[in-house]
Amino acid sequence: MVENMQKNEGTTVNSQASGVAGEGGGRLYIGPHLSISDGFAALARDAISIDANTFQFFTRNPRGGQARALDEADLAAYRELAAGHGFGAPVAHAPYTLNPASDKASTRRFALETFLDDLARIQGIPGCLYNFHPGSHVGQGLEVGLGHVVRLLDEVLPAFPETPVLLETMAGKGSEIGGEFGQLRAIIDRVKHPENLFVTLDTCHVHDAGYPVETALEDVLAEFDRVIGLGRLRAIHLNDSKNPLGSHKDRHEVIGGGTLGLAAFAPILHHPALRSLPFILETPQPDLAGYAKEIALLRGL
Ligand code: FE
Ligand code: FE
Ligand code: ZN
Repeated sequence: MVENMQKNEGTTVNSQASGVAGEGGGRLYIGPHLSISDGFAALARDAISIDANTFQFFTRNPRGGQARALDEADLAAYRELAAGHGFGAPVAHAPYTLNPASDKASTRRFALETFLDDLARIQGIPGCLYNFHPGSHVGQGLEVGLGHVVRLLDEVLPAFPETPVLLETMAGKGSEIGGEFGQLRAIIDRVKHPENLFVTLDTCHVHDAGYPVETALEDVLAEFDRVIGLGRLRAIHLNDSKNPLGSHKDRHEVIGGGTLGLAAFAPILHHPALRSLPFILETPQPDLAGYAKEIALLRGL
């Protein structure tokens, strides 16, 4: 088992070095969560207009409804724009209303079907990562909830071996799974195909979960490395927080406007273990102009 894990970590490091992110002359990959309601080419043009070179999108309405039909011409136009502007790996975010750890078989089934459909749909987007929330065990207990997530991943991971699937670090609200690094490690340890399973670190969530990224980044990353392995880290959700350390709340704030504070972000952006990753803003900006300012602020740090 240990031998297996070391082999997997090695593979991870290699695939990251040759991946989409990590190239581009040292320019950071920063971009916000954007809407695909006008298609991927329009999204790419929006990103370029605000000096973003990566982005995140919901694969469908967050409520988990029907996804729009794929438009091959739109995807081709997107690919040309993304390649021409040196975009880093984009992140597809699964609907956050899904609960892969639910106590209801029908809810878990719906999560599985949505994941499989989403993964099929993002195959036309080069380098795309797929991020999801592990879900809430809703009183069944952590062990039972973890088992549901593992069984879902055992169907999803082998179906799309080329697409990295990312567990998101969570604030640990209620019975939410993922508020401790050890819970994500438990999922990685138990799935049959861990070589394709990675992690997104959300700065608001880990802070709200009690990891002091704003005062002890090195310690938090050392803990992440010890428990999960930094080779598993593939994306950063870059958010400030409205609430104090360890509050388990999950309310995002604009960069510099919250309890992390502006000074927290330069060390995160320029950390050697993080700087080649996509930095995704999920901050409450009112419009694209707000994100343009936020990205300019971050690029100047
Ligand atoms: Fe999320
Ligand atoms: Fe997030
Ligand atoms: Zn959040």
